[in-house]
Amino acid sequence: MSAPEYAIGVDIGGTKIAFALVDRSGQALDTHQLATNAGSGPDAVIEAAAEGVRLLAGRSPGRVAGVGVGVPGFVDFEWGIVRNAVNLGWVEMPLAARLAEATGLPTRVQNDVNALLDGELRFGAARGCRAVALAAIGTGVGGAFAFEGKVVSGAVGSAGEIGHTPIMPSRRLCRCGLRGCVEAYLSGVGLASGVSEHRADFPASPLAQGEPAAREIVAAADAGDKLALAIMAEALEAWQMVVAVYAMILNPERIVIGGGLGSALAPRLLEAGQQALQEQVLPFARGLTFALAEVQSPAVGAAAAAFA
Ligand SMILES: [Zn+2]
Repeated sequence: MSAPEYAIGVDIGGTKIAFALVDRSGQALDTHQLATNAGSGPDAVIEAAAEGVRLLAGRSPGRVAGVGVGVPGFVDFEWGIVRNAVNLGWVEMPLAARLAEATGLPTRVQNDVNALLDGELRFGAARGCRAVALAAIGTGVGGAFAFEGKVVSGAVGSAGEIGHTPIMPSRRLCRCGLRGCVEAYLSGVGLASGVSEHRADFPASPLAQGEPAAREIVAAADAGDKLALAIMAEALEAWQMVVAVYAMILNPERIVIGGGLGSALAPRLLEAGQQALQEQVLPFARGLTFALAEVQSPAVGAAAAAFA
């Protein structure tokens, strides 16, 4: 019998669970979405995840190899156990075993950002890479890296967590409790913190009056707003630290930029990234390329683990 041609990816977020039925090239043939309702407890969330998987498995045109799941938190990939997922309120949850029992399909579970990189390795911008790092820039910042085509987990699953690496000299307080984290500057949360911190210096800026969304801050920077430009300069300084740390410590051949804000800031990140390579990275480690994430959704990326 030939290998199954399809897999189901599941991305469990704080508010919704996204599902995708994908083929071996990473094309989504079908998708589905359900509310997470984390407040209803883990059993209800797992049943919702199983329900979505069964629905897409029932619609699949062929045999399904298995299920790959991305979860925000620390995950033991080998055993499929979610060690700690703060947004979901889960501790030591044997998610892979529970879902496999409920769906009858082999299931792999990993951290959601690791799942993004896994998806890029199999389907997208990291195909063929031996050493590659990913920065997922959205409301927060996640990071992951892979060697020999495999995502590196580290001792407790936190390898590559660049978002909460406190490398910024101005030491702004991060929501994790540390000071100077990349995420405190280069993220939706970070841009909003920048407004709070600098609004008194730029009273003429329309942004200074309210609580602008990240996309409004980006648009204002495009239009030359001085408050937005000051915030953006800090965000790009944090990005350049990310590039320098990734380049020198991991020595990747490629850095993949993901996340909604990463996409919105792409031209700025590419330009600032090149500058960082020239000015903050020793010559031997400069030979890397930047690429934008290609996989169409986190659920599609999560499916990659089911084909491995
Ligand atoms: Zn932090």
